[in-house]
Amino acid sequence: MSLTVLMNAGPWLSVPPSGYGGIENVIATLVPELRRLGVRVVLASVGESTLPVDELVSVFPDGQFGALQRPYNQVCGVAQAHLAGVVRELRARDDIDLVHDHVEAVGLATLTAMGPDGPPALHTLHWDLAKHPALYGNLDGGDRVRVNGVSASQLARAPRALRDHSVGHVHLSTPLAVGAERRSRPEKGEHVVVLGRINPGKGQDLGARLARQVGFPLVLAGPVGPYHRPEDLAAAGAEARQNPDVRFFHDEVAPYLDGEMVRWVGTVAGRERDDLLAGARAALFPLRWEEPGGTAVVEALALGTPVVATARGCLPELVEHGRTGLLTTDEEELGELVLAAGLLDPDECRREAAARFTPAVMAERYLALYERVRHLTPAADLQPA
Ligand code: UDP
Repeated sequence: MSLTVLMNAGPWLSVPPSGYGGIENVIATLVPELRRLGVRVVLASVGESTLPVDELVSVFPDGQFGALQRPYNQVCGVAQAHLAGVVRELRARDDIDLVHDHVEAVGLATLTAMGPDGPPALHTLHWDLAKHPALYGNLDGGDRVRVNGVSASQLARAPRALRDHSVGHVHLSTPLAVGAERRSRPEKGEHVVVLGRINPGKGQDLGARLARQVGFPLVLAGPVGPYHRPEDLAAAGAEARQNPDVRFFHDEVAPYLDGEMVRWVGTVAGRERDDLLAGARAALFPLRWEEPGGTAVVEALALGTPVVATARGCLPELVEHGRTGLLTTDEEELGELVLAAGLLDPDECRREAAARFTPAVMAERYLALYERVRHLTPAADLQPA
């Protein structure tokens, strides 16, 4: 008998997303693999989602992400309306074996509030678990609602009550890892890339300073707040500074930009992103936060680019120091490691990605967790993997 999963992607963006959308991208990567393994997928998303699924249920016709710019009292009903639609659906039918939920905070709260009559549920924690301490610290999902993380280090820092509900972690994956070991070797340039949202936690200011100090060309790729292109940010008025990432960029990163040694190119996508990463001497992650999942890390490895990073969050789980990258706890050392990264073998990075970070590996792992959640075991008996 086949398994039917309600995959709750939430009301914010379509699946797949048309641009930015980390969680929606994970779902778009996971669902085809699950279906290949025989799982029926009912997707709870917005009406404009185009991912092939067995059924789509939605409350909103299109993505509500833009509403997040509005004050709390105007936006707080959006996720609740979506979740109310999911609960209606779950109550009206009896074919859903499990809910796989990805909606921050509200998804977990609603599924636990359904009580013993609700279906088994797995809630994936895609974010920093220091958030929502009142929700996570007092969680009681009984034997029915479980959570998983995207790295072991993320869960290790979680509040006790949340860890007690955990069935382990599943590393992120990338379609770029499929056949990565068979792709021809990329031509390497001199440049180094920092790929990600421009944000204090991602540490672009540190990367830029070290590039100027040590002397390596650095390309910063990623959005600054809502601005994806340098010309859009330049055209934005003074009110753009209300966004903390815009302030960070102007105050801490822009002073290092010289259009030559250190450049900000805005968001790169598709082929342009892949070529930029594949041709880089290293992908630099000068992190100042505990990176929970690190999609860009596994993408770099899949493209044969060694990772140089502060040894924070999931980095030591994803990168093997001396083989697929170079890690340090001393941020001042990152510059020298960038210079040394040229000695690492791109083929090792690609082999590692092909073995560990494909969508098929991720889907098999989730399928195992679904089975575990469905055959309900008292929380105390579950050892996080
Ligand atoms: N990304 C991109 N273009 C950019 C910057 C980032 O496509 O210019 C993508 C990147 O390839 C990755 C995602 O955005 O797939 C970022 O995910 P990650 O987990 O690395 O960071 P998050 O932003 O979720 O903390």
